[in-house]
Amino acid sequence: MKIIMLGAPGAGKGTQAKLIAERYQIPHVSTGDIFRANIKNGTELGREAKKYMDQGLLVPDELTVKILLDRVAQEDCRNGYVLDGFPRTIPQAQVLDEALAKLNEKIDHVIDVDVPDENIVRRMSGRRACPKCGATYHIEHIPPKKEGICDGCGSELVLRDDDREETVLNRLKVYHEQTQPLIDFYAKKGVLNTVDGTMDMQDVFKAVTDILG
Ligand code: ADP
Ligand code: AMP
Repeated sequence: MKIIMLGAPGAGKGTQAKLIAERYQIPHVSTGDIFRANIKNGTELGREAKKYMDQGLLVPDELTVKILLDRVAQEDCRNGYVLDGFPRTIPQAQVLDEALAKLNEKIDHVIDVDVPDENIVRRMSGRRACPKCGATYHIEHIPPKKEGICDGCGSELVLRDDDREETVLNRLKVYHEQTQPLIDFYAKKGVLNTVDGTMDMQDVFKAVTDILG
């Protein structure tokens, strides 16, 4: 099963993608996580991506498409995957479609996690992430068992550099301009489903599994 998660930054794509990956035993593929891992490891790709990420801008399509296609070509993606944060532009979606068509494959489900802008800033300022294992929490809604510490691996949680309020506002603007048109793109293909992302994490997941079966 190949799934795309759409939605504004902070809508809960990653949270749901992790639950989907666990339930359906497919890899969670997040371009944001791949960029952050490269930044942490000081690679050339990380240095290049950071320039854009710190400003709340999208990393150029050329770079992003290459890392995504390399990732989904790996053995563990053979039986499907859940994409989180890709595609974010129409050209990215087109390249993905073409690459899949060459393999006689297609995206099975696109899930748009719908959260109004006014909820987003609160979501992002409360987000805490584990720099080691990638787990995500929210200080009010989805807190770790011990404040500031990852339940999974015991590392200290951090506020992402790009979750500062002024960067969040920029990311929202970029989302509306460049990513939101994908909702229409996938609706026209007949694969779009929308879930209300303002519900509790488990209720959103219930809506997601009703769609995926
Ligand atoms: P995205 O991957 O779309 O950027 P995340 O999954 O990281 O978003 O979620 C953003 C923040 O909102 C995180 O702090 C996360 O713990 C929290 N969150 C996710 N889903 C919900 C929900 N249904 N209700 C409340 N908070 C949520
Ligand atoms: P995310 O973790 O999905 O919120 O992504 C964090 C940042 O990484 C984004 O704000 C972009 O700068 C960059 N990024 C992640 N995925 C993409 C993508 N598909 N296209 C362009 N930039 C991306």
